[in-house]
Amino acid sequence: MPKKKESKTKRGIKKPKKIKIKPKAKVKVKGKKKGQYRAYLGLGSNVGDREEYIEQACFLLAKTPGVKVIKRSTNYETEAKGTGDQPPFLNAALVVETTLLPHKLLDKIQEIENTLGRERDVEWGPRTIDIDILLYEDQIISDDRLQIPHPLLHERLFALMPLSEIAGDVIHPTLEKTVSQLYEEKKVELGPRYDDELPGFKEIKGGITDDYERW
Ligand code: AMP
Repeated sequence: MPKKKESKTKRGIKKPKKIKIKPKAKVKVKGKKKGQYRAYLGLGSNVGDREEYIEQACFLLAKTPGVKVIKRSTNYETEAKGTGDQPPFLNAALVVETTLLPHKLLDKIQEIENTLGRERDVEWGPRTIDIDILLYEDQIISDDRLQIPHPLLHERLFALMPLSEIAGDVIHPTLEKTVSQLYEEKKVELGPRYDDELPGFKEIKGGITDDYERW
């Protein structure tokens, strides 16, 4: 039997063997194109024209290459939880489809926060706009810059409330519960302190946009 000829380059150097890497299992989401990932964002503003800042943030996100806003929640007015006496927030949530990987998406989000005049001098202080990545597919990330799922998502009614409106069935990958379950649990935990008729949790603007065509 003839000896198998060794693969060599013109200069007689042995060619390195090709290594086949098995592709990792891909997450399939119905109706979603290959290479597109679904991310769930939380937005908040408690300075100036809060509604306008939320609008602007949605507009700039929708204009970002590789980001498509596919669902947007109602805006909710919520009590400020943080340092000092702060005005109430407006909060909203978005579902986006993106080709950007989590850290790249965070870069873009921070650019938008900077464009809209966010100053980062006071932790949990007043802010023109705050954008958080609440969930990104079923990814679990924890490094110096980014934690996904957002570590406070399940603790924050102001994040769960708008998110459950547009992504109630989505499963939190570490708590293994749906967003709606987490929201209901939080309401029970708050007991009489939760009342959606109170100004602190008042819904002030209506409309879910499934096909996002505002701009
Ligand atoms: P904040 O003051 O809430 O806007 O926090 C901003 C900081 O949180 C930034 O330095 C981010 O790098 C970091 N961070 C960690 N995880 C997240 C996340 N899931 N979404 C947004 N910012 C995050």
